[in-house]
Amino acid sequence: KPTVILVIGMAGSGKTTLMQRMAAHLSDAGTPAYVLNLDPAVMTVPYGANIDIRDTVNYKNVMKQYSLGPNGGILTSLNLFATRFDQVIQLCEKKRTPQPKYILVDTPGQIEIFTWSASGAIITEAFASTFPTMIAYVVDTARSAAPQTFMSNMLQACSILYKTKLPLLLAFNKIDVVRHEFAVDWMKDYEVFNEALQRDTTYAATLSRSLSLVLEEFYENLKNVGVSAATGEGMDAFFEQVQACAEEYRQLYLPELQKRQ
Ligand code: GDP
Ligand code: MG
Repeated sequence: KPTVILVIGMAGSGKTTLMQRMAAHLSDAGTPAYVLNLDPAVMTVPYGANIDIRDTVNYKNVMKQYSLGPNGGILTSLNLFATRFDQVIQLCEKKRTPQPKYILVDTPGQIEIFTWSASGAIITEAFASTFPTMIAYVVDTARSAAPQTFMSNMLQACSILYKTKLPLLLAFNKIDVVRHEFAVDWMKDYEVFNEALQRDTTYAATLSRSLSLVLEEFYENLKNVGVSAATGEGMDAFFEQVQACAEEYRQLYLPELQKRQ
């Protein structure tokens, strides 16, 4: 069965560019992939999507029809699409010539539209109950170089991990701009993160300090990799970690799923 890679991350973290990079990388290696765009508001999709939400729902019309703003329009479009997601799963299952090794899924620019909505949960569960599924949580490494931004990004990843219980890979993107080693050091050693906050005695910094102690245990459950969606650096390591996540799905998620069914 193909492994589903759900690409999730803050707006502008590079999800769509990473989709394009993954598709190109797999295509170069002759590895078949099935590619889905679930962002109804994207202008242009820079990769060949096998299924594109925009072919089914017109987000501008949805906005007009239901008198919604942009976020409401995106959310409602995703809701409409989710009601028929069993058909999408069927298409993914039926694809045989060639049988895809990966199913790549791009999500809406604004993270909470996918992670804090019923339709996001429905779509995630539909995949996870059918295929080995993992989350690639994309981080804008350059923008996470400030300790407190880093912390809020990690909290976001943490809540997604606990909500979905799926294997999660932190993809530190844009390493062509800023290397990600500092982030790995912060995750490995609380003291190093603490040092980065050192002179800051504001309430927020104190909170970050306490949180980083709590998050130590969470970090142990995460895999991470540095990538550049722009240059392609780190993509081999990325797919090695994806394999490890698929294995983790089989060992930890699948038995729980079978118990529930
Ligand atoms: P999304 O909102 O998460 O889908 O983000 P996009 O893929 O649209 O990327 C947002 C911006 O970041 C765009 O201007 C991209 O060109 C840029 N970007 C994405 N990945 C990289 C990268 O690896 N390196 C650099 N330098 N820029 C990147
Ligand atoms: Mg995007």
